[in-house]
Amino acid sequence: MMPDSDMPQIKVNAVRASQLLSALESVQSRISTATSSASRQSAPRLVLVSKLKPASDILALHSHSPTTLLHFGENYSQELQQKAELLPRTIRWHMIGALQTNKCKPLAQEVQNLWCVSSVDSEKKANKLQEGRKLLAERLDGEGSPLTEKLRVQVQVNTSGEAEKSGVEPTDAAALCKYIRDKCPQLQLSGLMTIGAIARSKATGEGEENEDFIELVKTRDIVCEELGIERSELELGMGMSNDFEGAIKAGSNEVRIGSTIFGERGPKSEAKILDDNTDGAK
Ligand SMILES: *Cc1c(COP(=O)(O)O)cnc(C)c1O
Repeated sequence: MMPDSDMPQIKVNAVRASQLLSALESVQSRISTATSSASRQSAPRLVLVSKLKPASDILALHSHSPTTLLHFGENYSQELQQKAELLPRTIRWHMIGALQTNKCKPLAQEVQNLWCVSSVDSEKKANKLQEGRKLLAERLDGEGSPLTEKLRVQVQVNTSGEAEKSGVEPTDAAALCKYIRDKCPQLQLSGLMTIGAIARSKATGEGEENEDFIELVKTRDIVCEELGIERSELELGMGMSNDFEGAIKAGSNEVRIGSTIFGERGPKSEAKILDDNTDGAK
């Protein structure tokens, strides 16, 4: 990890910052409206999905309110690791994208402030995250600053049955959850996650329920029954820009919102972590 003095100075552009904040406020107000109209006690956690967006966008939001704008989600493990090196350690990173088995161990080992991995869909990946987190824990113990938390993981469920989507089949979720709970002491099983079919979230009209969300709720009931745990112990991570209000109505505890806040994303090949006006840009 870089010493703080070697970190490039990331500049926040004031115009961009105010754009981001106003988009965020509008999302937050839609979240509170959906939460109260569903008669729910508490709003879901909002994960700001910053994939393919520059580090300066993340810094603009996080530095505006370092105690409340904490949760940022990334899809690519290398991008997450690079951003984590450049940005304040107070950020709570979420890995939400399709995980490659060989990236699991380095991710868990390198990123101390990795808060949750939302896309676990095999025992192999759970094992690799476990190994990486264990090495991190040993290193930090040696440095006299022990880790105080386990690494949260969500099991990704393929609720839409689309072949190209990651995630376990709903009927296999309980076995993987049990494996994580019983065999991965450095991991904390925190919830279930689904992306769902885009076609369904677009087709679901006002007042209708999205089948993917219904399926995830059902899957949670089964998992809780099989593991003998309360529903409150297993969060539901569902809802994105297109469908978060429906997800909140269906009981989501965590929504992941990107383009509504950060704007449309360009192609991956054009994404830059550091803007050109950054001092020390590579
Ligand atoms: C990109 C992404 C999101 C956010 O999508 P938006 O439609 O931009 O809000 C949420 N979850 C996952 C897994 C993603 O890959």
